[in-house]
Amino acid sequence: MAHDFPATLVDPFQRRISYLRLSVTDRCDFRCVYCMAEDMQFVPKPQVLTLEELYRVAEAATGLGVRKIRLTGGEPLIRNNILSLVQRLGQLPGLEVLALTTNGSRLAELAVPLHAAGVSRINISLDSLRPDRFRELTRFGDLDRVIAGVDAAVAAGFERIKLNAVILRGRNDDEVLDLVEFARQRGIDIAFIEEMPLGRIDEHSRKLSFCSSAELEQLIGSRYPLQPQGDPAGSAGPARYFSMRDSRSRVGFISPHSNNFCHLCNRVRLTVEGRLLLCLGNEHSADLRPILRAPGSSRADLESAIVAAMALKPEKHHFTHGEEPEILRFMNMTGG
Ligand code: SAM
Repeated sequence: MAHDFPATLVDPFQRRISYLRLSVTDRCDFRCVYCMAEDMQFVPKPQVLTLEELYRVAEAATGLGVRKIRLTGGEPLIRNNILSLVQRLGQLPGLEVLALTTNGSRLAELAVPLHAAGVSRINISLDSLRPDRFRELTRFGDLDRVIAGVDAAVAAGFERIKLNAVILRGRNDDEVLDLVEFARQRGIDIAFIEEMPLGRIDEHSRKLSFCSSAELEQLIGSRYPLQPQGDPAGSAGPARYFSMRDSRSRVGFISPHSNNFCHLCNRVRLTVEGRLLLCLGNEHSADLRPILRAPGSSRADLESAIVAAMALKPEKHHFTHGEEPEILRFMNMTGG
């Protein structure tokens, strides 16, 4: 039965929440050095939401005014039967944008069915164009497969494709211009992300590997003059985008350290065990799993819990460069 709910997701700071990021698994076929420890503990299977439970949250959120959903993880495309969830979400009344963030490892096979199911935007993580280095940074990744995935996505005709690159000093900072050129050759966007202090890692010092967006902007701008792009709707969230005169591709910078974007925040995240996280950089959350699993629980119960959770959304996060992570959960839990 169709519900006609007013958009009621407004937080105490008068920010309207219209964007939900759904982590559909915390598991991944890569172990990117900035994202996960080598030896990870994953959520025990019984605590993982079923595809039906994930759908119920998406349905309730959409009824409350959410207009954009991004599937993420972990690696969303390794979740069993993920296409069946995507197909259902693609039919959700009121949902305007269905997006996906992936490492690209399964995109060569899945780009066409994902597009057919209604995914319009895809973000693909790509931190290096050198096979050995790519393997080192992802611990397991096969660069050729990922590039085949990017090319399959381009051929499938998604409305928007963006590469995401995390740049670490001394590891891949010499590839910034090559990555921009790779995106330009395909007419797709690329965003550079500052590493965030999520989860405890021993592999490198986050403080020493930090590369600021300002530095990358200067480097790229010296090769391709960058024209700032306005974002009147604030829909780019934390990213600032630039166009280049001679290309369709845009270059973005996601700068949690150097650019505070919290006042524009329009998003919440659902972890795969059903915790509705109100902020990437804080632990404030509401546990929806008990509601999802209570016998006879209804869509209205879920909607009430989501509305009530808005009161918990903090005003901002505070990332610093200390060696201790401020947030112990890894990005794969959060749904980056
Ligand atoms: N597996 C998918 C992927 O690789 O894109 C989706 C999940 S991944 C957690 C989403 C994004 O978060 C990736 O672009 C990844 O590079 C980024 N990411 C992970 N850990 C990060 C961190 N500590 N700081 C900044 N970005 C991070």
